[in-house]
Amino acid sequence: MSVEKTLSIIKPDAVSRNLIGEILGRFEAAGLRVAAGKLLRLTPERAQAFYAVHKERPFFASLCAYMSSGPIFVSVLQGENAIMKNREIMGATDPAKAAPGTIRKDCGKDVEQNAVHGSDGPETAGSEIAFFFRPDEIF
Ligand code: UDP
Ligand code: MG
Repeated sequence: MSVEKTLSIIKPDAVSRNLIGEILGRFEAAGLRVAAGKLLRLTPERAQAFYAVHKERPFFASLCAYMSSGPIFVSVLQGENAIMKNREIMGATDPAKAAPGTIRKDCGKDVEQNAVHGSDGPETAGSEIAFFFRPDEIF
C-alpha cells in the first residue's frame, strides 16, 4: 500500500439533493483527506471529453447530458490506497447492486444517477485529477 491521490466527483443528482457534506463526511470518516475541491458545472463538450472512454457505449449521450445538467463537486482525495478505498466506499455502479452502507446504495438514484464518480486506477487518477485541477490547487 502507498499514499495515493484519486479524483472524486459528487454528481448532479447528489449535489441537487444537498448531499455534498454527507458524502465528503463519509470519505473523511474512512481516513481519506480532501486535498482539493470545487463546485463547477461541466458543459456538454467537457462532459463528453471527461467520459471519452465510454463514447461508443449506448449510455454515453444520456450520461453526458446528465453530467452537464447541474453543478458537480469535484475533489482530490488522498490517503493510503486511496484509489481502491474510494471505489469501496462508493459501491458498485448500479445502486441496486451496491453493498449496504456504500454511498451509491444509500445516495444513488439509478445506474446513471449514481451519486459519485471515482477514478478506477493510477493512470486514470492522474489524468482525471489534471482534467480539473492545476498543481497549485492541490494541497
Ligand atoms: N452508466 C450508465 N449506464 C450503465 C453503466 C454506466 O448510465 O449501464 C453511467 C454511470 O453514471 C456510471 C458511468 O456511466 O457511473 C461510468 O460508467 P462506468 O462503467 O465507468 O462505472 P463507474 O466506474 O462509475 O462505476
Ligand atoms: Mg468508471
